[in-house]
Amino acid sequence: MRHDYDHLIIGAGMCGEAAAQAIHALAPQARIGMIGAERHPPYDRPPLSKALWKDAAEDSVWRPVADSGASLHLGRRASAIDAAAHTVSDDHGDVYHYGKLLLATGGSPRRLAFGGDRVLAYRGLDDYRRLRELARPGAHIAVVGGGFIGCEIAAALALHQCRVTMLFPESRLGVRVYPAGLSRFVDGYYRERGIDIRSGRLASGGEQRGESVLLRLDDGSTLEADAVVAGLGIVPDTALGSAAGAEVDNGIHVDACMRTRVADVFAAGDVANFPNPALGRLRVEHENAAVTMGRCAGRAMAGQATPYTELPFFYSDLFDLGYEAVGRLDARLDIVEDWVTPNREGVVYYLEHGRVRGVLLWNTWGQVDAARVLIAEPGPHDASSLHARIRA
Ligand SMILES: Cc1cc2nc3c(=O)[nH]c(=O)nc-3n(C[C@H](O)[C@H](O)[C@H](O)COP(=O)(O)OP(=O)(O)OC[C@H]3O[C@@H](n4cnc5c(N)ncnc54)[C@H](O)[C@@H]3O)c2cc1C
Repeated sequence: MRHDYDHLIIGAGMCGEAAAQAIHALAPQARIGMIGAERHPPYDRPPLSKALWKDAAEDSVWRPVADSGASLHLGRRASAIDAAAHTVSDDHGDVYHYGKLLLATGGSPRRLAFGGDRVLAYRGLDDYRRLRELARPGAHIAVVGGGFIGCEIAAALALHQCRVTMLFPESRLGVRVYPAGLSRFVDGYYRERGIDIRSGRLASGGEQRGESVLLRLDDGSTLEADAVVAGLGIVPDTALGSAAGAEVDNGIHVDACMRTRVADVFAAGDVANFPNPALGRLRVEHENAAVTMGRCAGRAMAGQATPYTELPFFYSDLFDLGYEAVGRLDARLDIVEDWVTPNREGVVYYLEHGRVRGVLLWNTWGQVDAARVLIAEPGPHDASSLHARIRA
């Protein structure tokens, strides 16, 4: 079958949906098509590891894509692009002709070397639904990876009375991101809540045996669990960008208006590597960026290009701790800690040559814009200039 769209969006995620809304707002008559590999229409991913494990209803995740008037082609994967002919083909043999094309393909989760229906790489709504089935009180769940997904899922499972074992190669939770004292605090916080922390350990293999999973660890030991959740990060889905002739290096390179170097082809969201006035080129995996970059791309596709200058932020909940963060959080940078109450409320600044590159707002809310302003300043800054600079 052949379809004809003024605007075609590949990827029915948060970024794709935001782009469709922006196009529709500027060009209500435009024909918008969206191809999505998942069988679901666009939904919010962050609640999958947070609100849905508390009291939010599953229905709260859907995004209002119908308002954009986009025609959805779900359960289909775009498999080829002919940028010269302005066509895309999908894995069902359909062909889509486009005027402008947006690649909002996000990323695929890294997987363990073995599979099974009790071995989850946590990324989508189906993973959430499956984990809810498996996460009965008393079930033993192994969480592989100590990054933000691993930490959030481990906390959610513990709150649901599961027995949780976390394993990850670093020496402590958060050691690559937080200052040493905060990392020790978070690590201890998880242990106090009954989580069995196996730091310094890699899962080297494993297999599902009926209703349990046997994990092999790199020290020769084994771990038996009812299910395994891997939070190992994502790999950006850049294959279509490469096939179209876009520059690809840690994401699809775009300019400040989300244009690739290929005529009429745009990219945005987790898959895009974009320029930022304060931090240079970066690729982020943040909800806020997916939505705001999607809007920026949509406006550019509809003929009203305005540069994207926003510095994205990220947030996370860990039991009753929570934070928002802006810019680069890397424990190897120079760190200035400014606590109101140590490890409970305060701000951590990450500096490089006296310039603030990142800000961690630990239980400090409503200060994302203040952090953005600070990162845009040339500095130089130090502990005394940053003391009490940002407060809740
Ligand atoms: C559990 C979880 C919790 C999170 N929590 C937070 C948080 O607290 N704060 C935060 O800032 N961020 C969070 N994130 C990250 C945030 O959800 C992502 O940054 C955001 O989803 C990126 O949106 P996107 O639309 O760019 O990509 P995606 O959400 O990855 O969507 C891309 C879509 O494209 C589809 N696709 C890929 N290739 C093709 C193809 N060839 N054809 C058709 N479709 C294709 C994919 O199947 C997918 O549905 C979380 C992510 C997860 C998984």
